Amino acid sequence: DTHKFSGIVEDCCCDYETVDHLNNEVLHPSLQEIVKTPFFRYFKVKLWCDCPFWPDDGMCRLRDCSVCECPENEFPESFKKPHRLPSDNLVCQEGKPEAAVDRTVDTKAFRGWTVIDNPWTNDDETDNAEMTYINLQLNPERYTGYTGPSARRIWDAIYSENCPKYPSEESCQEERILYKLISGLHSSISIHIAADYLLDEAKNMWGPNLTLMHDRVLRYPDRVSNLYFTFLFVLRAVTKATDYLEQAEYDTGNPNEDLKTQSLMRQLLYNPKLQSACPLPFDEAKLWKGQSGPELKQKIQKEFRNISASMDCVGCEKCRLWGKLQVLGLGTALKILFSVDGKENLGNPLQLQRNEVIALMNLLNRLSESVRLIHEMGSSVETATIEG
Ligand code: FAD
Repeated sequence: DTHKFSGIVEDCCCDYETVDHLNNEVLHPSLQEIVKTPFFRYFKVKLWCDCPFWPDDGMCRLRDCSVCECPENEFPESFKKPHRLPSDNLVCQEGKPEAAVDRTVDTKAFRGWTVIDNPWTNDDETDNAEMTYINLQLNPERYTGYTGPSARRIWDAIYSENCPKYPSEESCQEERILYKLISGLHSSISIHIAADYLLDEAKNMWGPNLTLMHDRVLRYPDRVSNLYFTFLFVLRAVTKATDYLEQAEYDTGNPNEDLKTQSLMRQLLYNPKLQSACPLPFDEAKLWKGQSGPELKQKIQKEFRNISASMDCVGCEKCRLWGKLQVLGLGTALKILFSVDGKENLGNPLQLQRNEVIALMNLLNRLSESVRLIHEMGSSVETATIEG
């Protein structure tokens, strides 16, 4: 029953009804357009990596697991040449209070795409020959048949080694938030599997699997609420980076398309409904308080890097692609909200890689789709239950 979700989303600042309304009216339609633009549909990723935790158990040979790579001439020319920032832009900021959180970013925000690595993730995201470009529109996240001990081992490792579920009274807020981010992402992945499922292999017929939706997500209220939390957390990162994202160069060598991308981004970022209905989707200033704040942040950053490293153990190419993209998207949200290199980014200009922004917006879109699907499929599940 999806109607039982009302009130404020735990640890956030907006209520369920407002989130649904905003998503239906503003976010979902906008994001669906944004992710189709040439800038946002190509993701650069290293898909063949050795799992650092277990010996390789072999990539699955399922047809629906394979990813189709872009031919060289398809992806934008401007993506091929990374430009470095002049070093005098990298102002060294000293004497900043360690534990305070900055809610704003410099208004002259965008200074060119950076090539600096993201401290929250394990991958070396700087350009290298092992990376391939993937057209995300041709490789949707959906059911792949990847299951069994390999998939289970990764989720288990992520939950048990990296962000154990703390009973709320003992839990420190930051650990709980890491758990909720992962659980929300897990719900979203399960929802996409359920929404786009291979119903009949012989006929290659795809469609929604209501039982799976109910069994994996809907019957667990905490999984639904964690999805909303993750959605609001990532949305906050996007709104915090408004100036940067508004000024960024969405250059793919096709001026008409690029102008359209910029205008779609502006429509989303400056939407009055977004600003009035849910001005602060999540309040990052509430975290890392107290003396142990900086130390705790380092610890959580290390845990998140381990989660990111475990994506190299995902034994299905397409799941690995979306796993890496979404973990990079979360890593980018964490970087925008909290820190560069475990230190505060107070006064330091925000610097993002093109690929980080692509991951961030595609992640937000996936989460927005999942929030919608909760209601669309939720009511079908209820109807099926009544009829059944
Ligand atoms: P799983 O989803 O594997 O869950 C394992 C256990 O985690 C559950 O038993 C439960 O105890 C706990 N759990 C489940 N959901 C939550 C939650 N939201 N919050 C907290 N705890 C939870 N398969 C595809 O078909 N397509 C994909 O694109 C895809 N992408 C994947 C990406 C990654 C990074 C990983 C690790 C797996 C992916 N898979 C994908 C596999 C898929 O997630 C499942 O592992 C698989 O379908 C088997 O499901 P399961 O029922 O065993 O439960």
